[in-house]
Amino acid sequence: MRAVVCIEARLEPADAPPPVPGPGQVRIEVLRCGVCGSDLHAREHCDELAEVLLEAGYDGFMRSSQRVVFGHEFCGVVAEHGPACERKVTEGTHVVALPLLRTADGVQAIGLCAAAPGGYAEQMLVQESLMLAVPNGLAPDTSALTEPMAVAWHAVRRSEVRKRDVAIVIGCGPIGLAVICMLKAKGVRTIVASDLAPGRRRLAEACGADVTVDPGESSPFAAAGDRGHLETIPAAFELALDTIERLRRLPVAWHRIWRGIDAIGIKPAAPVVFECVGVPGVIEQIVSGAPLLSRIVVVGVCMGEDRFRPSMAVNKQIDLRFVLGYTPLEFRDTLHMLADGKVDASPLLTGRVGLEGVADAFTALGDPDRHAKILVDPAIVGAGVHG
Ligand SMILES: [Zn+2]
Repeated sequence: MRAVVCIEARLEPADAPPPVPGPGQVRIEVLRCGVCGSDLHAREHCDELAEVLLEAGYDGFMRSSQRVVFGHEFCGVVAEHGPACERKVTEGTHVVALPLLRTADGVQAIGLCAAAPGGYAEQMLVQESLMLAVPNGLAPDTSALTEPMAVAWHAVRRSEVRKRDVAIVIGCGPIGLAVICMLKAKGVRTIVASDLAPGRRRLAEACGADVTVDPGESSPFAAAGDRGHLETIPAAFELALDTIERLRRLPVAWHRIWRGIDAIGIKPAAPVVFECVGVPGVIEQIVSGAPLLSRIVVVGVCMGEDRFRPSMAVNKQIDLRFVLGYTPLEFRDTLHMLADGKVDASPLLTGRVGLEGVADAFTALGDPDRHAKILVDPAIVGAGVHG
């Protein structure tokens, strides 16, 4: 079979023996596989990332000297069950799967390690227990978006954003756009999207952003108008004094009412900010630009070290959260949200390539104004990115 191998940052189509499913594994024929920002990152920086993951106890992450087949955002057709499979999902069924594979050396990340080749290939192995039949005849183009959309769904869930909160998405690459789609699906009423590239701002609108901002021209934190956010420290001082002075005028002891307000969960309004850029300095920009009490959810993966001023975050009581991946339940729910039409991810899809065109896709994704998500379709012959 054909596969695209990455070695020393080069992407080369090559012949490979068809994979043989081990116990609990299933061989699938790949229909589509998304090119992910993580693949672009890993191609250039995998050794650095491998060191970070090794420190956290995972020694399987790819090294630049290894032969790796990328691709963790795939859908395919069941072709062969390995031994000890349940076989509830039969051959010929369209499926997606979480990109983890149990091997003799432990559980490996499919498409980002040498021991578990990914979906830039005609065939690949998945774990039967993590495989889901595609419902409702959902098209392969959309099914392949389950993985990146699940990343966004997890980020939105971890953010604990409410419908009435202002959500501000910084960076409208594929992950930022997916977050916007999922915020929309959740019913968040005010979504601000910020990106320097006009093409990405147009995609953000198509995904459901209510306001788009060029951060070179104006602040994304002011774009939703006056929502009662605390913009300055004096505003917080004023709010504290105003509140207690008002409560002291009431016939009940002020501390009892305050405790009641706390118990109901009434708090000063603050936005939820999604960092979807992942380059040094962005967290600091958000910490210094965002209103007091903002919750920052970091989805973008910044390589290397970064700096921000804790004193600014402390004085604003910024809530900083980091997110990764999704649970099997979130993955399953995302698939069904796509299949039931509860979320429309179609604006993300900007191009298609065959296996010979994967290197072209990596180049094309370097231009932020043209492409968001490019899908690899092994049935496409020849190089080049198709619209
Ligand atoms: Zn990914």
